[in-house]
Amino acid sequence: MTAPLASRLRGFGTTIFAEMSALAVATGSVNLGQGFPDYPGPPEVLDVARAAIGTGADQYPPGPGIPELRAAVADHRQRSCGSPAYDPDTEVLVTAGATEALAAAMLALLEPGDEVVLFEPIYDSYSASVAMAGGVIRPVPLHPPEDGAGPWTFDEAELRAAITPRTRLLLVNSPHNPTGTVLSGEELAVLAELATTHDLVVLTDEVYEHLVFDGARHVSLATLPGMRERTLVVSSAGKTFNVTGWKVGWVCGPAALVAAVRTAKQFLTYVNAGPFQPAVAAGLRLPGAYFTGIARDLQYRRDVLVAGLRDAGLPVISPRATYFATVDVRGVQPDGDGLAFCRALPERAGVVAIPTVVFYTPEHAALGRHLVRFAFCKNDAVLAEAVERLRRLA
Ligand SMILES: *Cc1c(COP(=O)(O)O)cnc(C)c1O
Repeated sequence: MTAPLASRLRGFGTTIFAEMSALAVATGSVNLGQGFPDYPGPPEVLDVARAAIGTGADQYPPGPGIPELRAAVADHRQRSCGSPAYDPDTEVLVTAGATEALAAAMLALLEPGDEVVLFEPIYDSYSASVAMAGGVIRPVPLHPPEDGAGPWTFDEAELRAAITPRTRLLLVNSPHNPTGTVLSGEELAVLAELATTHDLVVLTDEVYEHLVFDGARHVSLATLPGMRERTLVVSSAGKTFNVTGWKVGWVCGPAALVAAVRTAKQFLTYVNAGPFQPAVAAGLRLPGAYFTGIARDLQYRRDVLVAGLRDAGLPVISPRATYFATVDVRGVQPDGDGLAFCRALPERAGVVAIPTVVFYTPEHAALGRHLVRFAFCKNDAVLAEAVERLRRLA
């Protein structure tokens, strides 16, 4: 038999996460590779899910999601980021995580050969879902800060050059995984101007909307003038309520775009997460103090890991958001190869991290070759153990 994998999925075979997680187990390493929290979500949310199991909530929920959750999503967006009002009936769709929302949007909106402009390093599902929809990615690099401090930024000329007559979608992830950067107001204004000028649909992945540090503020592109009508905002419960396994996400946008996404979504999963939907609705209605509290808590974890990495002699780019810190290994790894560094780190220090190069397209691999991503969304004992072990490198 010839290779069974369809050509559009070649190159998406296995992920580094499987290799590194296996290495973590085999060597008894602390796993700072995968980006999920190892501490539970708020009891107010977990209790609602427990109570919902064994009730009618176990059966298929309505296709667009339960009304209670759609209303909570619309209210929450207005309350938390001054977002425009969304009609819960026609402008909010519940999905199987942000991942399905993004995939369904690609499948719904792209014609074969249509181009998607996005920032690189790239969250891994984007390239695959564009490929599954028959689209083509046009990556624009986010450049790390020269001095290791400050945000990653894009070059406006590089962004403009990536837009062609075939560009259909602009896909923006801010706060950004894996760099932990938050796009500034000026950067968002550039994106809005380009989207309007070239009549692009904008897809924003805002799953880290609440995990922002140092007083930085997340601003949704949909809130900029003229953007609501062309923007699909995607977010999810996983990162906000420490329930990454629940896979409850949503998309908000103008009715015609949301209807298009719903058309694709109904034949992917149709519905999901019956008992978790009311729980997430309860979560979104928690007081503002919950959301500022999770940011503060995670900022503390960031500080612990960043200090530990620095003590270990690793130059680190401290993130302003998300779960991840980036280390430049050029000073500590003779050939500057982040992949080799990650493969050796379990033996050397008993810690697992992910080489950032896996988030780059092969053409731009040189840009990420020397970078490594460490996750800090881990409990106190795990972080303390990781920091202790990293000291061996010093
Ligand atoms: C975790 C993550 C997702 C996936 O969200 P789910 O709700 O689990 O599907 C999407 N985008 C980014 C940038 C993420 O880090």
